[in-house]
Amino acid sequence: MQPTADMRQVAVLGATGSIGASALDVIARHRGRLRASVLAAGSNAEALVKLCITHRPDHAAVADPAAWPRLRDGLRDAGLPTHAHAGPDALQALAAGPECDTVVAAIVGAAGLGSTLAAARAGKRLLLANKESLVLAGELVMAATRRSGAQVVPIDSEHSAVFQCLQACRAGDVRRIVLTASGGPFRGWDRARLARVTPAQAVAHPKWSMGPKISVDSATLMNKGLEVIEAHHLFGLPPARIGVLVHPQSLVHALVEYVDGSTLAQLGLPDMRTALAVGLGWPERIDSGVTGLDLLAQGRLEFEAPDLDAFPCLRLAGEALAAGGTAPAVLNAANEEAVSAFLQGRIGFLAIPELVEDALAALPAAPADSLEALLAADADARRRTRHRIDSSPPGSPAA
Ligand code: NAD
Ligand code: MG
Repeated sequence: MQPTADMRQVAVLGATGSIGASALDVIARHRGRLRASVLAAGSNAEALVKLCITHRPDHAAVADPAAWPRLRDGLRDAGLPTHAHAGPDALQALAAGPECDTVVAAIVGAAGLGSTLAAARAGKRLLLANKESLVLAGELVMAATRRSGAQVVPIDSEHSAVFQCLQACRAGDVRRIVLTASGGPFRGWDRARLARVTPAQAVAHPKWSMGPKISVDSATLMNKGLEVIEAHHLFGLPPARIGVLVHPQSLVHALVEYVDGSTLAQLGLPDMRTALAVGLGWPERIDSGVTGLDLLAQGRLEFEAPDLDAFPCLRLAGEALAAGGTAPAVLNAANEEAVSAFLQGRIGFLAIPELVEDALAALPAAPADSLEALLAADADARRRTRHRIDSSPPGSPAA
């Protein structure tokens, strides 16, 4: 089908990842309406070239400059006219420039902040999966979207659920929102068992297929903590009005309770293509490839309270949100460093909350009035956490 003037030109940042694959799957189902005009990744040039062969974007970019020659040569060898770019600045310029009108922000970690902010400042439709950028600099990102008129459509499944439930209500109508959590692979485990968890066990999520970092975050419940902070920024609610409920079936993604006692929930199979289709088609509904929910076949829907003793990361995230300022940036940076060390087999599972708690205690919250202050807090927390891991690693890794 020929492109039309109202064709959505989509930049998929983090194209080689799990969310990137889901986004490209939905885009490919709507060839007359959606087009991947920009694809970007971290350093895997070979995987990016393969995606370019299938999706034929105008531009492809790798954040790692060392991967640029492989990207350029791969595109040339495939006979593609796609332009090759490299470096974080190139990603930001593509996210902000005329090459796209819609940005899928699906880079993992604080590394996504620059391109998220660039898209927010440039007034793009921002399909935000990169929750770490909101945890690190939520006020700045949301202020940028308000100034530019950028429309944020959350991609995190819980936040997509809240976004959908909030349609057709006024500010002031909402009493509280509740995010659900699957509970991860170690739901019901005590600390003695958790101490022996391996990286392979931690990334084997029972309900969702995701990248390694968010899979570990789901296993520690830090993911839900980051999501509470994310919801606070996206929906402008104080922490006391954001609840968390463990729901092992992962079919109810979030609930919104109104002042009249009514509660709306959004349900669906645990497949991120639904949230991406919401973002790509909004306000219209478009096919995502996900089948509807058969509640008879699914059976029970269960709910329980999160266990904050076994999974302190959720509590730590709440404390960081309450402390405000630079505390969420410190929480996020220490967590990223700890998760990376855990995945490399350098520290045990229980060391993750220990290292985050240590960083929050050692680096008290300061005002977060500028991007520089936040990036400095992020750097300080990484330095401290890396130093602790290198010198006296807390918690030995499981054999
Ligand atoms: P992933 O590890 O599968 O993919 C990460 C992507 O980011 C890859 O394309 C990688 O090349 C790119 N990347 C890594 N470092 C980069 C850098 N420095 N610069 C540019 N690109 C870089 O991760 P994912 O599971 O797709 O998650 C992506 C984001 O979406 C995370 O913030 C995650 O929390 C969020 N999210 C994911 C899911 C899910 O189901 N996977 C659900 C909700 C939210
Ligand atoms: Mg989520």
